[in-house]
Amino acid sequence: MIESAAMEAETRDALRRMRADGVRRLGERVADLTTAWKTLTLRPWDAVTRTGIGELASVAHRLAGAGGTFGFPALSAAAAPLELVLAGLADSSAPDAERVNQAHKLIASLVAALECGASVLDEPPEPPSATPGEAADPVLVCTADAAQSGLAALVSNLGYAVLRGAAAPPPAQRMAAAVVDAALPQALDTCRVLSARCPVILLADDSSFEARLAAARAGVSAIVPKPLETNELADWLDQFASHRRDATLCILVVDDDSVLAETYAMALRQAGMDASAISDPSRVLDAIAGASPDLVLMDLQMPGIDGIELARVIRQTRRHMSLPLLFLSAEQDAARQIQARRLGGDDFIAKPVDLGRLATLVRLRAERARSLRAVMESDSLTGLLNHGRFKERLSLELHRCRREGGVVSLALLDLDHFKQVNDQHGHLVGDRVIRSLARSLQKRLRRTDVIGRYGGEEFGVLLMGTEAEAARAAIDQVRRRFTALPFETDRSRFTVSFSAGVASNAGPDGPAEAEALIEAADAALYAAKRAGRDCTRLAGEG
Ligand code: GH3
Ligand code: MG
Ligand code: MG
Repeated sequence: MIESAAMEAETRDALRRMRADGVRRLGERVADLTTAWKTLTLRPWDAVTRTGIGELASVAHRLAGAGGTFGFPALSAAAAPLELVLAGLADSSAPDAERVNQAHKLIASLVAALECGASVLDEPPEPPSATPGEAADPVLVCTADAAQSGLAALVSNLGYAVLRGAAAPPPAQRMAAAVVDAALPQALDTCRVLSARCPVILLADDSSFEARLAAARAGVSAIVPKPLETNELADWLDQFASHRRDATLCILVVDDDSVLAETYAMALRQAGMDASAISDPSRVLDAIAGASPDLVLMDLQMPGIDGIELARVIRQTRRHMSLPLLFLSAEQDAARQIQARRLGGDDFIAKPVDLGRLATLVRLRAERARSLRAVMESDSLTGLLNHGRFKERLSLELHRCRREGGVVSLALLDLDHFKQVNDQHGHLVGDRVIRSLARSLQKRLRRTDVIGRYGGEEFGVLLMGTEAEAARAAIDQVRRRFTALPFETDRSRFTVSFSAGVASNAGPDGPAEAEALIEAADAALYAAKRAGRDCTRLAGEG
């Protein structure tokens, strides 16, 4: 706690320093612009003069953007029209006295705005405080006694810690979500109390519109009709309870003005996001490849390459088709905004920017994009990468290993005698087992490892930077725990095991191509099945 408070203070200090630096640079730019303007107006009206005035127009453009951000709205208010006036002058073949006069006045207002000092800026936004719903928080199960143990076991099989009770627990108790049985007396009152503390899922007998409305008024977030459809409950729990598990959003900021770029990045970091900034637009593809951002925030107008061109470059890569682009724009021109939208620019944030609002907008866009992407790329039963995406990642990682050197291991897992599980307990219970293994893998492996649903009851795991032996040990540990995990139904209690095969790309003969590595792991899996199942085999082990 103390450490994080210190870090927070450090970030805020850095943001303050950044602002001070920005204000100093604003002053220098206004002074340079004033001097350059004086010199240019003394020159004859020729091509050099007009080019010089054109350059001043882009300085005014930057001032318009930066002024508001650093607390000088009046400066922005003068710089925006100044840009238009100077651009008009640069295009004229003869000096237009009216425009020259306007430019004089606007430049004088710039200087005046700066001398008046910065308006008091809001403190940088507070980072979001920890809220209920972090990985370790339990799920409250509120049901009538008889049904309680069955539902509690089910939620626990889904991988969540369970808290039982017929009503709200003490205020200090954090909860990821609450599951309330509508059959309880005063169920909706319980929902009302609980909904102030966490998302509430109601298990309802009646799913008429009136019943749903009454539940909505009691603050219920989700309704799962009875008889209980386990997958639906699991989906809601996943949505509510794992919401924050992976919540650090990654944002890339592109602005040719390095102080502004870093200021935006700082404000986003301050709001709890992981932000990096670049001021050289030509580095954008490398930066996207390196950081895999959830969203790119970019200036629409940059000298050299503008935002629209940059968006076009980004969209040329298939993988980046759905990457959200958010433009920062001091742009007056509606036609250019439409052009930017056509290229998939998702929105515009007007410069000058209010840093607090910037962080909120960026977070909302990035979160929505992330959940859409998760739905698109994942297997619907387990939420893991689907077959196609998993193989894509495998190829990508092997490619990276070939380029940079590095080792990965691939494990293929297959549930044992799974046909019997379905035959004896039904397909829905089978699905529950599949989900449960998915969750065990997520819980026990490293966050950098890549997990996919490779087939029906088969899983693929890519263990990064892990030699075959260590990968076997990791998978085997998951196996031992999973095999010991009891599943309960109304009628019985049973366990399920899996077999696994592991292969790595290490060594001179290690397979460097995806297909070859898959073949090796598959052969090892087959060997594990032949050896009696419920074990893990290494490729080439015989
Ligand atoms: P082995 O130990 O040799 O792997 O035996 P097995 O019974 O697991 O192997 P087999 O490949 O014959 O059967 C796999 C079964 O998995 C058959 C199929 O119905 C079931 N299955 C595949 N996908 C799903 C799914 O999404 N849900 C459920 N419930 N069952 C599935
Ligand atoms: Mg199989
Ligand atoms: Mg099987």
